[in-house]
Amino acid sequence: MKKNIIAVNATIMIGLGSILAAPSAFAESISDLEQKKASIQEKRSGVEADISTTSEKINNLQNKQLTAEEQIAAIDAKIAESAKKIDAKNAEITQTKEEIEVLKAEIIVLQERIAKRNDVLKERALSFQESGGDLNYVEVLFGSSSFSDLIDRVGAVAAIAEADREILKQHELDKKELEEKQKAVETKLASLEVAKAQLLQIQNQQKQQKEQKAALVKKLKKQTKKEEENKMGLEEEKANLAAQETAIKSAIDLEKNRLAELEAARKKAAAEAKKRAEQEAAAQAAQAAQAKKQAPSHSNSSSNSSSSSQAPASVSSAPAVSSGTFTRPSAGYVSSTMGERWNKQHAGIDIAASGTVPVVAAADGVVSRSYTSSSYGNVIFVTHNISGQTWTTVYAHLSSRQASTGAVVAKGQQIGIMGNTGHSYGQHLHFELHKGTWNYSKSNAVNPLSYIPN
Ligand SMILES: [Zn+2]
Repeated sequence: MKKNIIAVNATIMIGLGSILAAPSAFAESISDLEQKKASIQEKRSGVEADISTTSEKINNLQNKQLTAEEQIAAIDAKIAESAKKIDAKNAEITQTKEEIEVLKAEIIVLQERIAKRNDVLKERALSFQESGGDLNYVEVLFGSSSFSDLIDRVGAVAAIAEADREILKQHELDKKELEEKQKAVETKLASLEVAKAQLLQIQNQQKQQKEQKAALVKKLKKQTKKEEENKMGLEEEKANLAAQETAIKSAIDLEKNRLAELEAARKKAAAEAKKRAEQEAAAQAAQAAQAKKQAPSHSNSSSNSSSSSQAPASVSSAPAVSSGTFTRPSAGYVSSTMGERWNKQHAGIDIAASGTVPVVAAADGVVSRSYTSSSYGNVIFVTHNISGQTWTTVYAHLSSRQASTGAVVAKGQQIGIMGNTGHSYGQHLHFELHKGTWNYSKSNAVNPLSYIPN
């Protein structure tokens, strides 16, 4: 009966840690997961709404940009048109200036001619009045044959002078006309300059408009980029949420499968219990029949011993599954209770019985570990999740284990056979109950006799 649970490999703790962290097979966790999934779905649809809002914003911005770019193109056309007009005005201005230059030259020529004629006229008048030195006039006057002829000739001289004056007069008129022309052309030039200045002003305004539109396009592009980045972030968030949703969905599937497994385990446990009951009934019937046969003779006690060794009495039945949270893990008597023993803490109870004694799971749960330890021998750890509380049960010194790590087991389901493996002296079951997880110092151990039928 004496057994010291010592030197438990530290890897058990590590192994258990990860196993206990695994999803447990109970409905509460499914509803938790469903809630989590629903909240993620809600979040995701929120994100999807944000994405469509952002997409709309991007569309609007791109439309505005397109409009602005079209306006810029129109303004560009106007600017080009203005430039053409300005070029035409420049050409006109150049031409007008040339005209003015030509007119000025003509005026100078005319002024010179007038001045020369004036001089000639003055000379003629002087020579005619003073010395009569001018050959033409003298010839005209002195070549006359008679007075009347002279008079005629004087008239002719006067006529000549008159003709000269006519020429001069014509020159003056020409000059005046040229000056008027020049004035008109200069006026034209001034108006051309004004028109050109107006065109330049219009072109400047157009250029300013273009600059404003270009700035708008730049701003819109920046806004679009920002919204696109925003959208990308949202898409990433959406993908993350979808991945989480998928993970939760598979966790739910796993939980559901585990519930199905638990249901199967319960059926198996019930079938086993029925089979054991039948075997026991058959064994009792066989014993009763033998007893009847032997009863009348009351002879031969040696045959008694041989018949009892043949009887299937060595197969013990499992205890009836109790209605409490935990059921008794095996048949037999409590050979050692929990508490201090030989200066060591005994963290569980010992149940002893002879023969082939089934060991059953004390409650529904998942086998968190099934292995062979130097101290515990063949041992099974079962993790239970009962109304949100984690419990751990330990079944040690088994002769054989019938449930492997990860198996879902039902309350009362056979998981092994009582034995004497590991640090043990004599066949018994060492049973521990922990409120919470198992740890090396066994600080969560509670007295099993407070929870199971004695
Ligand atoms: Zn023990």
